[in-house]
Amino acid sequence: MKYSELCEVYEELEKNPSRLKKTEILSDFLKKLKHEHDKQIIYLIQGKAFPDYSEKEFGISEQLCIKALSKSSGISDKEIVLKWKKTGDLGLVAEEVMSKKKQGTLFSNKLTTEKVLDNLKKLPELVGKGTVDKKMGLISELLTSASGTEAKYIIRTLLGDLRIGVASGTIRDSIADSCSDKENKEKSKEFTEAVQEAYDKITDFALVFEKACKGIKSLYSTELIPGNPIKVMLALKAESIEDGFERVGKPAAFEYKYDGFRMLVNKTEEGEIKIFTRRLDEVTNQFPDVVDYVKENVKAKSFIIDCEAVGYDKKTKEYTPFQAVSQRIKRKYHIEKLIQELPIEINVFDILYYNGKSLIEEPFEKRTGILSKIITNHKYHIQIAKQLITDDKKKAEEFYKEALKNKQEGVMIKNLNSPYKPGARVGHMLKLKPAENELDLVITGAEYGKGKRAGAYSTFTLSCYDKKTEKFLEIGKASGLKEKEELGLSFIELTNKLKHLIIKEDGRGVTIKPKIVVTILYQNIQRSPTYESGFALRFPRIIALRHDRNPHSVATLKEITDDYNRHELKIRY
Ligand code: AMP
Repeated sequence: MKYSELCEVYEELEKNPSRLKKTEILSDFLKKLKHEHDKQIIYLIQGKAFPDYSEKEFGISEQLCIKALSKSSGISDKEIVLKWKKTGDLGLVAEEVMSKKKQGTLFSNKLTTEKVLDNLKKLPELVGKGTVDKKMGLISELLTSASGTEAKYIIRTLLGDLRIGVASGTIRDSIADSCSDKENKEKSKEFTEAVQEAYDKITDFALVFEKACKGIKSLYSTELIPGNPIKVMLALKAESIEDGFERVGKPAAFEYKYDGFRMLVNKTEEGEIKIFTRRLDEVTNQFPDVVDYVKENVKAKSFIIDCEAVGYDKKTKEYTPFQAVSQRIKRKYHIEKLIQELPIEINVFDILYYNGKSLIEEPFEKRTGILSKIITNHKYHIQIAKQLITDDKKKAEEFYKEALKNKQEGVMIKNLNSPYKPGARVGHMLKLKPAENELDLVITGAEYGKGKRAGAYSTFTLSCYDKKTEKFLEIGKASGLKEKEELGLSFIELTNKLKHLIIKEDGRGVTIKPKIVVTILYQNIQRSPTYESGFALRFPRIIALRHDRNPHSVATLKEITDDYNRHELKIRY
């Protein structure tokens, strides 16, 4: 397909802010794309060259784009930077300078989507000496044969900011609209759900579109592929054990709700182990210990197992809260040292794929039955999640207490007959945790997010106030994810508020002047050497910004100490 055809669609999408209109534009385009051999054009609509599960990045800086633009247009770097400062969008600058250049020349309009995809795909593969020049070469080659509009979108794609306002929901709806009978509301809804389900299994819209073109049956027959990330199944909340029984039925499976982080561990048909997080990031290199545990203790040719990785103290062997081991996910260096310092245990609670076959349609009880056949429990390395199947409220309550005593977050309550629904928040898997408390604290630090959250702070250091020393003392960190919905404020907005208050920058993190007060929810308080206050909050989440509050009115160290003592005196759970 001509790249100019795609650019016309980009332009229309950019001009129309309404999501409905965008879906209409995109589904008209997809109707045309049905007849094209190359469905990967969908990646270009997403501003990428790879499926969503891929972590490949173009690795192109603005500086490099400026150089490539200068080379292809004959306009100096300096002039380009000046223009960029005016508009703030290198894409617009590219449009301007490349259309000027094209005036008077015989422009042949020959750039194809295939060529663009080809060159984009080569970018992440380049490493070592001469990389910058080779990247420049690939970009300049595209720019030289591009019109002004084409240059705009090439540059925006390279910088990861296409500015056409198309999120994955719009792509899903457009695929469904372009392949199903839109007039039949019932059928069309069913088709949209089938598109979403297929996407949750393979996280690749080009493949999903290919299947959708063949009809709903083809979508339904989408198989999991071990080694590709899959969206995990999520839980709803239960109010109590009784509520749990009512909603999932009797008997139900109760399991420890481990306080760690989710991992999907895959063994491919070729025998390679790959580990993914809930956000679909591949973390195999960060966890060679897990690779070994799995190789030694899981006996199967291929599989996908769903697990929670929990940290424990290497001396006392007591489980530690998630925050203590969270660095294991992020850090890419000195891994051997980290493994020694922050050991983790893998608790396996589900299996989605086993020896060449998907198990997600099978009942939960059957799936966990397979787990017990193939996993050898090895405490502190890997084990099957602690489980109790019962219809007895008292026994379930005992089990819940035991989970909390063992420093876990609570229990999961699961229906025995349910399938595994990738990507869905389901009513047949519930979580039960103790009620939460509220506190006002002040933000005194922040760390930049990664991936989708790059460019904005996503972890916030919280502090209380010590009246005696008149200092703000750290007591915990709330990490992003949940704030957005609850604050009604985006990370970017909060980041911008905090940016005015930076005192010190240090790598990914910053120290912030104590000005912004937030209300947080937390589960309980623990003694902890990690923070200056001597305490750590368990599961703090920001729920509101308090413009009305003064930083000196936040919770004091004395109040927190009293609260801690009160809780310690009571038998907590
Ligand atoms: P929440 O993050 O509060 O929505 O609770 C759901 C999370 O609990 C899951 O995403 C898992 O990471 C974690 N979890 C811990 N233990 C289990 C378990 N036995 N079964 C399912 N999820 C678990």
